[in-house]
Order: sequence, then C-alpha cells, then structure tokens
Amino acid sequence: MSISQDASQDGDAFPWDLGVYDAHCHPTDTMASIASIPAMKTTTLTAMATRGEDQKLVQQTAESLNGDEDSTREERIVPAFGWHPWFSHQILDDTQTDSPQQKDAHYTAVLAPSPSEDPEFIKRLPQPKLLSTLIAETRERLKRFPNALVGEVGLDKSFRLPGAWTQQDLDNRDEEITPGSREGRRLSPYKVKIYHQRLVLKAQLQLAGEMQRAVSVHSVQSHGAVLEVLKELWKGHERIVLSRREREKLQDAEGALSEDEEEDENRREKQTTTTNNSKLENAQQPLPFPPRICMHSYSGPIEPIRQFLQKSNPSDVYFSFSAVINFSGLSARKVSDVIKALPAERILIESDLHIAGAQMDQLLEDAARQICEVRGWELREGVQQLADNWRRFVFG
Ligand SMILES: [Zn+2]
Repeated sequence: MSISQDASQDGDAFPWDLGVYDAHCHPTDTMASIASIPAMKTTTLTAMATRGEDQKLVQQTAESLNGDEDSTREERIVPAFGWHPWFSHQILDDTQTDSPQQKDAHYTAVLAPSPSEDPEFIKRLPQPKLLSTLIAETRERLKRFPNALVGEVGLDKSFRLPGAWTQQDLDNRDEEITPGSREGRRLSPYKVKIYHQRLVLKAQLQLAGEMQRAVSVHSVQSHGAVLEVLKELWKGHERIVLSRREREKLQDAEGALSEDEEEDENRREKQTTTTNNSKLENAQQPLPFPPRICMHSYSGPIEPIRQFLQKSNPSDVYFSFSAVINFSGLSARKVSDVIKALPAERILIESDLHIAGAQMDQLLEDAARQICEVRGWELREGVQQLADNWRRFVFG
C-alpha cells in the first residue's frame, strides 16, 4: 500500500494501550480546547511555548492537568518553555554592550530590510524584552518543572513579520485564538536577521545545557545554520569515537579483551564513548549544550541528518514528523526517504497542532501508521518503538 492512500482506513485497531506521545504541539493556542485533554486517547502532549503570550498558559495548563487524575497515570502535559524565531526580534540582546538598547535602534538593527523609513511599523511593535530577562524567567519555569523541555526555539530563513492589523483583520479575528501569532494577517517585507535569531537560539540552548533539558527545534531552510550553532556549543566536548582497531588495542592494554560477538559491537562502542565522555563531562560541568535535541517537523534532505547524527556529537538528535506537514503533497516521497534513512530509535511523531482534542489524536494516529508503513514495522511494534523513543528523548 502506498502512503498516498489513507493509512487509517486499514482494519488494524490502533494500539493506544501502548502509550502514544505527541512530541510537539501548541494546545494553548486554543485555550478552550484544554478541557478536552483528559478525554484524549494520546497519553502525553509535549506542549510548546513560543512567545510572551503563551509562557504562562503552558505553565498553568501543566499545573492544572498534571497530578489531578490517578497518580499512577503518566502526566498529561510535558511543558516546554522557549522563544520561537518568529518572535526573536522582540528580544533585545543586553548581554553585549555594543547592541542598541533603545526600541527604535534595536528594531532597526535586527530587521532586514531596515524599517528606519517606516516609523509606523516600529511603533506598533512591542517594547522589546531583555534577553537576560527571558533566560532568567525560563530558568525559573524549568526549575518548577523538572521534566520540562526548552522549546520551541530555532531558526527560520523564510518567514517574514506579519503586517499591522487592518480593520478587516480585526473584524474577522477568531476570539478563541491566543493572541500574538500571525492569524492570517498579510506579511510585511521584514525578516529577522539570522545573526540575531542565532544569538536568541544559542542563549536558550546554553540554558538547556545548564539545566540538562531536551530541546525542540524549529528549522526552516536553516539546517546548516542550526548545525553551526550546535557545533559552536559542542566544541571541546566532542565524544571520542574509537575505531574498532583502537578499541581492541585499548582492551588489550587493559587486559580486558572480551570474546564478544559482532552484535555487541554497537553496545561496546557506546560504552567506550560514554566512558570517555563522562570523564570529560565531570570535569567541565555545567555543559553548554543540551543532552537531547528534536528537529521538529523535519522537512530537510538526508544529508544534514548524517551530520546531526555523527557519533562524535555529544547531543543525541531526534527527528519528529507530523501528518500535516510531512505526509501531504509533494513532500511525502522525500520524507519517506528520510524516515527510511534514520535509526529506528531517533524517530518521533508530533501533531504540531494549535488545538487539543480528537483531531490531535487522529493526526498522531495517522503519523504513526504512516511511519510504520514506510519502515515496514508491524503496528504494535512500531507504536511501541515510537513510545520508547519519546520517553528516552524527554527523560533521558
Ligand atoms: Zn511548533
């Protein structure tokens, strides 16, 4: 069966009993939908914060839904706190003395083309938030939730800022939607310069390293730039990957040459790298990079994946896929090749949806079925793999 057919039409009952986890979603964009979460079939939603308007909503949603039910049940919400690249212009870098500290000068410096000729546009932008304040507030939220992630953060080379609200936009506005997002407004010509997006991303990745939290990363046309930022943070912390010959020599020297079978190769390699690495880590706490990273709704080619998965990288990188973005239209073929190329233990599913409820359940079922089909996994085996992957990604 090809993936262009609707996979959910086949007869197998979906194994919700194994646990199904949404690795990336935005339920707080529609607060009225939060009430439907306890009735959902999905076990846990990894709920992203993106901007000033939703940090507190994600926090309150996690506080109100977790721990209410039977305490043996897994938590409904794993919150994630972060500042999305679409809102990165609202952050003022107060960590560098040479960055402009006044509102007009700040927006003139970080936007391209420069809006200096467009004072009305700048006037409608909010008073910027200090980067040091963002990091301090996010640190406090991460402390409050020991399993919380950092996210949604990232880089986006294609987005443009929305234009000012027109009367028509305001008349048609959906009151149910949490403010702050584009909401169908026409786009302005202004983009956020990539150097600025990078510094907002980097500060949040460093915080994730300090707090040893996983991160959910948005990347549009920016996989190379995301890798560059990560490599800056990984520098000096690379895992030592020994060749087979070097490993055998080392084991000989330690008088510990084992008769292990070929199938133990990977396990031993992992142990060797972990051993070397943990020595390094102990000496240099706290680390400046996150332990685990999810490239959410990954839509790039295969080549960057090889770089993200290099054995010397000290962060474990996962890739998540949504039915809406990744399996519709022209990208379906490309995404099949990517999913086939990934290690089984690095694949996650997500809805990326702005509203909780039955539609979210359905999108996750669709994504799981499609991945099982592409990988040739039996449904229960595949859903179990995806559940194990999410738990390892979030909890380590
Ligand atoms: Zn998202």
